[in-house]
Amino acid sequence: MNALPSLAIGVLALQGAFSAHIERLRAIGADARSVRLPVDLETLDGLVLPGGESTTMSNLLRTFDLVEPLRRFIASGRPVFGTCAGMILLADRILDGRPDQIALGSCGIVVRRNGYGRQVDSFETDIDVAGLSDPFHAIFIRAPRIEQISAEVEVLARHEGDPVLVRAGSVLAASFHPELTNDDRIHRLFADMVRDATSNERSPAR
Ligand code: GLN
Repeated sequence: MNALPSLAIGVLALQGAFSAHIERLRAIGADARSVRLPVDLETLDGLVLPGGESTTMSNLLRTFDLVEPLRRFIASGRPVFGTCAGMILLADRILDGRPDQIALGSCGIVVRRNGYGRQVDSFETDIDVAGLSDPFHAIFIRAPRIEQISAEVEVLARHEGDPVLVRAGSVLAASFHPELTNDDRIHRLFADMVRDATSNERSPAR
């Protein structure tokens, strides 16, 4: 009954917190794979862009010729989940970013890098997430702050009024690090998006 083992979910593994995502995805039964080259994207059903350092990740995406393949992957409608620096990569606009850093413009948000300020560089808090019955313990590490969202963006969780987990069609983005807790519910939520997209693709008439 569980179609999860057949889901191939890639994790961009150029830099940052990719191994925890791979572990988390494997723990829920997905076929998690590292992505370092454009060819690695070809057979995937979904993709995670991890946290780390968004300016470094931008540079490495250029070095590894991954920018256009990544844009095509997202445009194909296969689900993508960006966490922290990964969310910054997906943004429409980046405030306090480096002028040459990549904003893929894929989830209708404007983010401010390190937007939670120095004193509270990193913090942990429980947040309510739409669709989850109990709060989720969210770890924020020099997190980006979502300062604007477009009308089509669905806010799944907020912290002190700011959106911290959002969905825009096939793109999910979190300003925190769900891979750093033992709670797999947000990875399951993403896997459900991947499974839905995969089954639509496989049976377009239904
Ligand atoms: N502040 C980092 C950046 O700008 C993101 C931090 C993170 O991914 N934990 O890329």
